[in-house]
Amino acid sequence: MQCPACSKVGEDRVIDSRTTDGGKAIRRRRECVACGRRFTTKERVEEDNRITVIKKDGSRMPFDPERVLNGMRHACYKRPVPQKVLQKVVEMIEDEILKNFEREVPSRAIGSMVARHLRELDQVAYVRFASVYREFQGLDDMIDEIESVKEIAHDQVPGQQSLFEQE
Ligand SMILES: [Zn+2]
Repeated sequence: MQCPACSKVGEDRVIDSRTTDGGKAIRRRRECVACGRRFTTKERVEEDNRITVIKKDGSRMPFDPERVLNGMRHACYKRPVPQKVLQKVVEMIEDEILKNFEREVPSRAIGSMVARHLRELDQVAYVRFASVYREFQGLDDMIDEIESVKEIAHDQVPGQQSLFEQE
């Protein structure tokens, strides 16, 4: 970085860095080693790396990892799923989108990725999420979904206790 006081390039050192703008940017406090001037830089993802979400009604909005995280948090309310795990899942979903889509992704594709991850993490959270995301029309739909989760649980590694088998 070029020092705004003495114009020397690359003589600065970072003395503090913190996220800002709700995690979308990093603010770094720097000090020029040559002249001692302190200045601040802000680092954010470049526009062309951003993901656009196409909503059901056709409108577009920038992908917001925080929204995905919140959706999962709601589904995992009072479930034993650590916050750190959810954050990791959000990163994985972001990677998946960048790998599989041309920077534009339908919101329902994100929904199905979230559902897939929750299904592995916590079956109760999954059914909660699916009830919103799949817009279950009634109790029958929900029971069908629970039945299918139960079947999957049976296929899983022996010894792994299913949440649906505790009754
Ligand atoms: Zn300087």
